[in-house]
Amino acid sequence: PSEVMDMFHREALRIPADATANLKADAVTRTANTDAQEWGDCPRCGQPVRKTGRMWQCSTNKTEKTKDGKWATTAGCGWKMFARIAGKTITDQTARRLLAGQTVTLKGFTSKSGKKFDAAIRIDKERGTAFDFDR
Ligand SMILES: [Zn+2]
Repeated sequence: PSEVMDMFHREALRIPADATANLKADAVTRTANTDAQEWGDCPRCGQPVRKTGRMWQCSTNKTEKTKDGKWATTAGCGWKMFARIAGKTITDQTARRLLAGQTVTLKGFTSKSGKKFDAAIRIDKERGTAFDFDR
């Protein structure tokens, strides 16, 4: 019986070790890809989307600071989606789902009059994101 127990112990020890090894490999891959994370294709022109600061935008976009100190898109297709919509922060996970073409229902938006509401949002080719009131 002690031999069997030994085997169990060894098996039990091996599982977390493997799990840790996998996590480490995963972390390395993620670090390597930080600058080129896959978010999906731009809904307007099909080029990859990247996250810059507090928005997701088409990788063809170029932003430059204008004379009055504001950032303006000077080149590229111009598609962008802000990470904050009606008082609600769009998480990376939600952004991925949206960019995959899904309509995502989120709770806790705040209207201009301060009223809380739930709504479904989807990617919009022109405006970045749009509330989907058809559902
Ligand atoms: Zn684009």
